[in-house]
Amino acid sequence: MRSTPLHPVARLPEEWSTSLAARGERSFTAKQVFHWIHRRGILDPAAMTNLPARLREHLAAEGLGEVLTPERVHRSEDGTRKLLLRLRDGATIETVLLPSVSGPGSQAQLDADAAAADDDEDDDAEAGAAPRVRVTQCISTQVGCAMGCGFCASGVAGLKRHLGAEEIAGQVLLGRAMLEEGEDLRNVVYMGMGEPLHNYENTARSLRLLTHPEGINLSTRRVTVSTSGLVPEIARLGADFGGQIALAISLHAADDETRSALMPINRKYPLDELLAALRAYPLPRRRRITIEYTLVAGQNDDPAEARRLAKLLRGLPVKINLIPMNPIEASSLGPPAQERVAAFQEVLTQAGYSCFVRRRRGDDVSAACGQLVLLGAKPKVRRALG
Ligand code: SAH
Ligand code: SF4
Repeated sequence: MRSTPLHPVARLPEEWSTSLAARGERSFTAKQVFHWIHRRGILDPAAMTNLPARLREHLAAEGLGEVLTPERVHRSEDGTRKLLLRLRDGATIETVLLPSVSGPGSQAQLDADAAAADDDEDDDAEAGAAPRVRVTQCISTQVGCAMGCGFCASGVAGLKRHLGAEEIAGQVLLGRAMLEEGEDLRNVVYMGMGEPLHNYENTARSLRLLTHPEGINLSTRRVTVSTSGLVPEIARLGADFGGQIALAISLHAADDETRSALMPINRKYPLDELLAALRAYPLPRRRRITIEYTLVAGQNDDPAEARRLAKLLRGLPVKINLIPMNPIEASSLGPPAQERVAAFQEVLTQAGYSCFVRRRRGDDVSAACGQLVLLGAKPKVRRALG
């Protein structure tokens, strides 16, 4: 049972139907309210002009209004935009808009960036149509994170609180409103601050909101949930959404000792349990699980570990994203030299895996993976060797 009433932005159309019917409103108002919020991105009840005045007043009294206030937008030289958002209780989170990069080889790069299980062919190449810029949005699910991974700014900060579904979906409402001319919101990745499956209820609700046909209507396969490997919740996500939500797993090691040193969660859910959960995930045909592997110099970057990884993943439908670690202020850990990254990739490619090195995006505004921090603190300026 919920102790607090659902925020209006977190309600699904059927829940609006129930609450509005109880107030004696006509049945179609439920859809109208949901449309205003999720299809049109309007949160100010006064602007919902087709609703009766008494209903608009009621919605205002229920706290419908700004859920998140944009505080700052940092624009990177590469087009990445990082939004610092303030929550109602004063805490801050960040979300990142990543436009696709044009130029040779960019599609492979975009796929790696998006990490979405987007294996189908290009579907917006209509004859004569102007090319659209596809944007991937990376969103947060918690203020901080309880998982304690030593290479991640959110992990080092610890968990402050879970985000409500209205705050998770609200990031996308805001992100969509900030798209520029020619841009389309194409993918949403749950790869910002926090562990989505540790905040399962709100994450699941936000997935229903974002993929609802009456709202933003994102395709489930273009929404990727990334997890450090919470085994019971992986099963739950698979069951609740029939395997339709794209899954990314932060693996970062192929043996328990190395993984536990980097990711404390591995002591609770070791590799054999995690791999069993991946095998059991009800993945639709022709879709793949994304394996994220943050390469940390001297920790998990040995070619022997790449060979173990190749063996561990044998038989699973996966694609592998290698992410050279982005430096963070709180840690002396860093990325391997470029040749070592290339050697690691080569082992996996030779073993027959589709394996990309994720390019660093938004580095100059601290918007790269793992750099999203509580108060927008700057990372230590350090260059990768090589
Ligand atoms: N908690 C979830 C999702 C958020 S983290 C998870 O761990 O999967 C998203 C991705 O960023 C993860 O793969 C994580 O390992 C990676 N990451 C975290 N810190 C990083 C850093 N400093 N450099 C590169 N990748 C990092
Ligand atoms: Fe949390 Fe993911 Fe960072 Fe680990 S990598 S601390 S799970 S946000």
